[in-house]
Amino acid sequence: MKRLLDLPTPQRRAIDLVKEVAAEKDCHPYLVGGPVRDLLLGRSAIDVDLTLEDGSSTLARALAKRVEGRVRSFPQFLTYKVTAEGLPEIDIATARKERYRRPGALPAVTAGRLKDDLLRRDFSINAIAMDLDNGALHDPADGEADIERRVIRVLHDRSFLDDPTRIFRAIRLATRLGFTIEPHTASLMREAIEGSAFDTVAKERLWRELFLAMDEPDAPAVLATLVAQGALAPLFGNREHEELRARLERVGAQLAQQPEADRYVLYTGVLLRGDASPVDFEGSGFSQKRARAVVEIANEFPRVIESVGAAETDAERFRIYRGVTAEMLTLLAAERAGEGVHIERFREFEKFKLPLRGNDLEVPGGPHVAQAIERTRVAVWNGEIPPEEARSYARKVAKRLLEDAR
Ligand code: ATP
Ligand code: MG
Repeated sequence: MKRLLDLPTPQRRAIDLVKEVAAEKDCHPYLVGGPVRDLLLGRSAIDVDLTLEDGSSTLARALAKRVEGRVRSFPQFLTYKVTAEGLPEIDIATARKERYRRPGALPAVTAGRLKDDLLRRDFSINAIAMDLDNGALHDPADGEADIERRVIRVLHDRSFLDDPTRIFRAIRLATRLGFTIEPHTASLMREAIEGSAFDTVAKERLWRELFLAMDEPDAPAVLATLVAQGALAPLFGNREHEELRARLERVGAQLAQQPEADRYVLYTGVLLRGDASPVDFEGSGFSQKRARAVVEIANEFPRVIESVGAAETDAERFRIYRGVTAEMLTLLAAERAGEGVHIERFREFEKFKLPLRGNDLEVPGGPHVAQAIERTRVAVWNGEIPPEEARSYARKVAKRLLEDAR
């Protein structure tokens, strides 16, 4: 286990400050959930998530004052977020009890004891608290043993029915940590999926979970497992196919080289392969533009890859590239060995500018001016003429175009 002393500086400073301010205000904060799990696993990049039975607002405000930061309050969740320059975000919550009045709906929340707060959680490994006063662990669900066994286990048999989004969380966490889903938990999960538990959950919440899966370091494995388990069927039917896993992995590898690409659009397009339509995106929050890019990837990819395969010159390739979205280009680079080099050249070509303006040509104005400059740009890019001849070349072309038009 990593000790608090071993944490990287910003987290350590945050915890030290919390302890100081808590002592002054006579509050008793616990580190809970993800960070305790991660410390027990020897990871040190932890979130600072705290829970208190009493005094969370006192601690949040006093802490914000001490660090000259800001406190935001989320009354419906009984939580506060403190942010300040040079510190990680600090989450401070009141220990709470939850009651699910209806499966799949958000629970009713009331203040509770630490133990209630731990036992309302998703998995035993996420239900451990560490007392910041003395480092003692509170572990009512025996999560530490499950961390040692490397298993994900729910705390009661109704867990996935109360909140089916925990199915996404279980698969995400198991993949990230290299844990297995304990057999009884796995059978509860299958029962919930087969019993259509997801039908009780708002689509928006499922999409949010899906996007979180796409943010994972090993997103392709998480997504492939979600599909194999039938967890995405409520969003867009069953789209499993033989090539899926390999294709997701190639996209993942491409994204590692091109992290600025739109991963949500790319992964969704690959998941939807075949016949996507706008109803498939209900609840996703995709803008029209991004939804169109997803549909293009899902529906047009076979046609595009075929035409790219038939292209013989840069001019032909570039014409195809110009007609598709940036995400389609990323997918092409992922799917076709050797295509990436051409696409890279195309991107450079698109960025390539001549220091030449219409006025520099000293010819009468009109559409021929822009055409001449574009042709010159292509000619300089291809090395047909040296850059210093760009102006005279463009002028010649413009004059010729003007004459042809007469
Ligand atoms: P991550 O490293 O992804 O942040 P995490 O376990 O901290 O993992 P969060 O989404 O930050 O996950 O949630 C914080 C804690 O809140 C979890 O550790 C878990 O105890 C609890 N939690 C989150 N979502 C649920 C849920 N759907 N049902 C029950 N408890 C949950
Ligand atoms: Mg967290």
